[in-house]
Amino acid sequence: MICSQSRCSGTDALSGRIVEVTFGERIETVAPTANAGNFLAPAFIDVQVNGFAGVDFNDPATTHEAISRATRAIRATGVARYFPTVITGSPQNMTASLRNLALAAESIPERHSIAGFHVEGPHIAPEDGPRGAHPLEWVCPPDLDLFQRLQEAAGGRIRLLTVSPHWPGAPAYIEALVQRDVTVSIGHTGASAEQLDAAVRAGASMSTHIGNGAHQVLRRHPNYLWEQLADDRLTAGLIVDGIHLGAAFLKVALRAKTPARALLVTDASAPAGCAPGRYHLGHQVVDLTADGRIVLAGQDRLAGAALRMDDAISNVMAMAGIPLPDALAMATIIPARACRIHGRENGLAPGDAADIVEFSIASGRIKVTGLYIDGEKVAI
Ligand SMILES: [Zn+2]
Repeated sequence: MICSQSRCSGTDALSGRIVEVTFGERIETVAPTANAGNFLAPAFIDVQVNGFAGVDFNDPATTHEAISRATRAIRATGVARYFPTVITGSPQNMTASLRNLALAAESIPERHSIAGFHVEGPHIAPEDGPRGAHPLEWVCPPDLDLFQRLQEAAGGRIRLLTVSPHWPGAPAYIEALVQRDVTVSIGHTGASAEQLDAAVRAGASMSTHIGNGAHQVLRRHPNYLWEQLADDRLTAGLIVDGIHLGAAFLKVALRAKTPARALLVTDASAPAGCAPGRYHLGHQVVDLTADGRIVLAGQDRLAGAALRMDDAISNVMAMAGIPLPDALAMATIIPARACRIHGRENGLAPGDAADIVEFSIASGRIKVTGLYIDGEKVAI
């Protein structure tokens, strides 16, 4: 809690105006000024983070000290708020991981950065391709009782859930989750156009890392990529590490969705931010390769990303020719609106949380130089 008013000035990267921002815990005023400094923007939001800096959020034994350390490392990339993400596993493991994360979200000094949890699975497509690296053993049809158990373990913090709508019970499940104020995202799916439409009518409003968690070979049309790209009711998450999506797909996806319906996620897993080598992710063993891929050991199947959000923003500008304001919106106000992260929907505007990132740009790459969360300057 800060009592005194703070201020910073620079170019508001979303609006292009040179401004001075005054703030306590919330932004109080944003006024034109002549003092050009670095760039300012709302601090970044990442709604899909499986782990970082060697720390695995899917392991119930992960210590709170480790979750603190991972959160500080995530903050150093300009991210103020993120969703630790728990993927398909045994009900016991998912419940225990969520309980562990919920206790950390109550107690660690960096707890305000944990804005909610993303549960990715276990009601996804069982077949190879759409299932991605999720373990087949624990894939199962939608089960509201299981969701209740997960949400109880999470202390009510599950804000985003990824499901495949190919299951017959999917529309009822989606409707029940939306009623519980959970954002539902379509992903790891091979669903038909009719199933996708039924899911959206039931309240699904996002696509999880579109273009990934898909078949290697796909019927040219219709297919679930075109259907989701064409559906303006869906905001799509994108992993822009230069590995998960090629530049052509990325460009086309962004022209279909427009930046107003696209958001950046890192999908980072524990080896992100570490040296190349072999790492354990829950029961799985993965390799971080020298060129930045995380693959199941001995295979070429991607198992998460080694991406940082500041790099994702730089990459989307370079790969798809997206201007800075749109690239930043995809990492700030768009995810805040899509996942209803209240107090973050308006950008650098009075009343929004004083989550502010200061950065410079050299050779097209963003370099974070300062970060405020709830108006408090944090070390990066
Ligand atoms: Zn995934």
